[in-house]
Amino acid sequence: LLPVPCSQDVSNGLRSPICCILGHVDSGKTKLLDCIRSTKVQEGEAGGITQQIGATFFPVQNIRKRTKELKADAKLNVPGLLVIDTPGHESFANLRSRGSGLCDIAILVVDIMHGLEPLTIESLSLLKMRGTEFIVALNKVDRLYGWKICPNAPILKAMKQQSKDVHIEFGNRLNQVIAQFKEQGLNTELYYKNKEMGETFSIVPTSAITGEGIPDLLLLLVQWAQKTMIEKLTYQNQVQGIILEVKVVEGYGTTIDVVLVNGVLREGDRIVVCGMKGPILTNIRAILTPHPMKELRVKGVFVHHKEIKAAQGIKIAAQGLKHAIAGTEMHVLGPDDDLEYVKEAAMEDMRYVMNRIGTS
Ligand code: GDP
Repeated sequence: LLPVPCSQDVSNGLRSPICCILGHVDSGKTKLLDCIRSTKVQEGEAGGITQQIGATFFPVQNIRKRTKELKADAKLNVPGLLVIDTPGHESFANLRSRGSGLCDIAILVVDIMHGLEPLTIESLSLLKMRGTEFIVALNKVDRLYGWKICPNAPILKAMKQQSKDVHIEFGNRLNQVIAQFKEQGLNTELYYKNKEMGETFSIVPTSAITGEGIPDLLLLLVQWAQKTMIEKLTYQNQVQGIILEVKVVEGYGTTIDVVLVNGVLREGDRIVVCGMKGPILTNIRAILTPHPMKELRVKGVFVHHKEIKAAQGIKIAAQGLKHAIAGTEMHVLGPDDDLEYVKEAAMEDMRYVMNRIGTS
């Protein structure tokens, strides 16, 4: 039997916060994700980081290790952090018009050389609408003229190495960005100067290429999530899952990639999902996750699970999923549930999806 992914460890009753990365094209979203899951972190697959379906799981031990230099004495209680892999995902567009958010917390990436751009502002209104907490990664600090590279260093340590000119350019650009956020009605401040987290959003200067500020970003994400979202992160049995993608996979037919936000899912469970031609009622034939060995992953060899616990990125194989719609919620039909009611709930999402198509 293969080892169970670590995100199932919910011994202290908390699930992993789910994080997504938003921002303008080319601000560095992909690079930032690459950087935080960097395989350079010596042992194993980057110290327990696991590739899931549509998401990457960072165990808390890994985060602790990478943030050691920050000497944070705060206890990290969550099992880890689940970061959604594909920021430009269709489902995010769908989720834009939905009230319930998939993510507990977000990273809003801003290119320090460009400031706020159209898609930054669009992401911002999305976050505001959903009431999602976020942290600003003021990315590409290594592009400041004369920047001295300090690989993977906490940002204050890196700043200490910089010349007066770099400090001046940094200060000017930072102030500009803060002013632009202000124009959008938001107070922002460098995270280590921010005394009113919650009222004022935190900015973490980062480089996704050389890694400065990444420890700060990781620590702040986890600390902030567990400080302000204990209730939301307290593990619940009620299944909550969002479809990220609908995909045909050889040997499995049409499958749905789902972020299981809460609860336990079992093989054979009856699920109801929103479909183009009406609600789809089906039984889970297989619950799949990528193979832990990289070579087998590319061949599409999956690990089958009899049951799986949130928070996880999984693939579900079942009959009749052809017309399922990405960005909508997956419902599990319990023994006491009224089928018609659940079907109606599943189709609720259609309205939001249609609204979006109508407005885009
Ligand atoms: P995305 O469109 O937001 O996902 O942006 P990418 O991650 O693809 O990055 C866009 C470009 O910016 C690529 O050429 C990256 O190598 C570059 N880039 C991203 N982050 C940084 C950074 O921190 N410093 C520098 N110098 N370049 C970066």
